[in-house]
Amino acid sequence: MTPLDHDWIVIGSGFGGSVSALRLAEKGYSVGVIESGRRYEDEDFAESTWQLRRYYWMPRIGLRGIFRMTTFKDVFIVSGSGVGGGSLGFANTLYRARPAFFTHPQWDGLAEDWERELHDHYDTAERMLGVTTYEGVGPADALLRRFADETGVGETWKNTRVGVYFGAAGEEVDDPYFGGEGPRRTGCVRCGQCMVGCRYGAKNTLRKNYLWFAEKLGVKIHSEREVVDIKPLGGPDGAGGYELTTQRSGAWFRKRRATLRARGVVVAAGALGTNKLLRDCKHSGSLPRISDRLGQLVRTNSESVMAVTAPDDERDFTESVAITSSIYPDPNTHVEVVTYGKGADSMSLLFTLMTGDGTRLTRPVLWLAQAIRHPLRFVRTLWPFKWSQRTVILLIMQSLDNALRLVPKRKLFGRGVRLQTQQDPDRPNPTFIPVAEQVTRWFAEKLGGLPQGGITESVFNIPTTAHILGGAVIGSGPDTGVVDPQHRLFGYENLLVCDGSSVPANPGVNPSLTITALAERAMAQLPPKEPNGAPAELPAAVRAAA
Ligand SMILES: Cc1cc2nc3c(=O)[nH]c(=O)nc-3n(C[C@H](O)[C@H](O)[C@H](O)COP(=O)(O)OP(=O)(O)OC[C@H]3O[C@@H](n4cnc5c(N)ncnc54)[C@H](O)[C@@H]3O)c2cc1C
Ligand code: SF4
Repeated sequence: MTPLDHDWIVIGSGFGGSVSALRLAEKGYSVGVIESGRRYEDEDFAESTWQLRRYYWMPRIGLRGIFRMTTFKDVFIVSGSGVGGGSLGFANTLYRARPAFFTHPQWDGLAEDWERELHDHYDTAERMLGVTTYEGVGPADALLRRFADETGVGETWKNTRVGVYFGAAGEEVDDPYFGGEGPRRTGCVRCGQCMVGCRYGAKNTLRKNYLWFAEKLGVKIHSEREVVDIKPLGGPDGAGGYELTTQRSGAWFRKRRATLRARGVVVAAGALGTNKLLRDCKHSGSLPRISDRLGQLVRTNSESVMAVTAPDDERDFTESVAITSSIYPDPNTHVEVVTYGKGADSMSLLFTLMTGDGTRLTRPVLWLAQAIRHPLRFVRTLWPFKWSQRTVILLIMQSLDNALRLVPKRKLFGRGVRLQTQQDPDRPNPTFIPVAEQVTRWFAEKLGGLPQGGITESVFNIPTTAHILGGAVIGSGPDTGVVDPQHRLFGYENLLVCDGSSVPANPGVNPSLTITALAERAMAQLPPKEPNGAPAELPAAVRAAA
């Protein structure tokens, strides 16, 4: 039999993938990571989102940045790409999930108490990602606090928990997190550009922690290669390992297909990437045993993204990190104020005049009526200059139980299937959140500014999410889920799913810390390599929770 290339291959290098790579290497296994996105050093990130090639990920037309956009008929999804996955362009915000998450019926009873079960893994994740509380009250925070006071929830206002190094601004120092064994770091200069990519080295991306130590332990990262197939070896359940087919990301021709073999595989391609890859493998017959529940319970974190742009050019909401404070208008709803920093004016193209509640038929009419009634306002939405400096983005997310499905559709050209969304008939994903409109209008009134909604939401009734989750969720068996509580794919040996796709419910807050803690837990349950693998020596601060 052809020898194996690695003990384990990890597909994707985001939160789930980076944790998996480090912890498997720590247990003595040889590990390869395959990442479809590009490797970025701090100085490679775009200076502005107008630098399309370095910001947007559309490899088919030569854009190899960190920000991926995918439109379905029920949701517009933004997600990350690159070595470090979503951490490269995320807003650094790292919260533990809301209480309702831990008792959701989808997984309640599969552990004695999920909150207690994950507690130590959250601790490890927070230590690894350097989570701390942001300090400071900028103009957007002050407004949010006023809104909270006026609506009777003032006590819920809090500064954000973030993964950023707040040493002396702009000063480079030896690693402050891992006893000097990690990379050198620079203190945050509060430029607000975290989502464009931190060019200063202040943001705690996965390259600065999990992947840094994984590579130190010999993990090999193959970037700009996407996995398109996984086939079991030596039997239908993968007991003899797996063969993965990879190809150049986004290539039209000369795809340079290659295969790699490993004893075990961790699929961590993010909720979208994992759903697509597993669906292709099920459809093509490579992994026919995957549960029919694949693609069910896809969550958007019940999200809405709104914006308010102040009229005067002197207004500046950017002198901070990306997300600085939040409130809870009700226990299930979280509102955060967000900035993109200066130089993100192209993001204005994703926003337009806000429309109220409606349907796919009425919202285009409402939008058109607004544009005709308020032509000046409409023209202002088309004016991108200094938009990101003058704009407060309002991010609303909920821990409510709603969902979509990702269902397969036949492709006209090429291999595999294409995915399309369907609303879950029993608990549809909301296309309009009243409190999102309320807080946006309030901000607009106070700033004399322009209230805006996401363009797909306002015009086509398609809400935006930056937090797509689910589709390969934890369940008690293949009739209720796709993976077991240890993240093992039902029907297969040594094939795990450790990323946002296995998250069973809406956490109601930014989910990356929860994805990290779940992956830490999944990896903690795997045995060390036997008989020759010596567990690797790592600084105490890097070791997993016992
Ligand atoms: C602008 C923005 C801001 C955000 N801010 C926050 C925030 O502040 N806090 C928070 O908690 N979350 C935030 N998020 C969401 C966060 O980025 C995701 O929830 C998180 O990254 C998901 O982690 P993951 O492990 O599931 O996968 P990802 O981090 O998405 O990683 C998956 C990786 O797999 C790669 N991949 C996909 N398919 C394949 C394939 N076939 N072969 C090989 N590789 C593949 C992708 O390129 C990607 O790098 C933000 C997202 C965006 C877009
Ligand atoms: S505010 Fe600027 S320096 Fe600080 S983490 Fe964000 S991008 Fe980096």
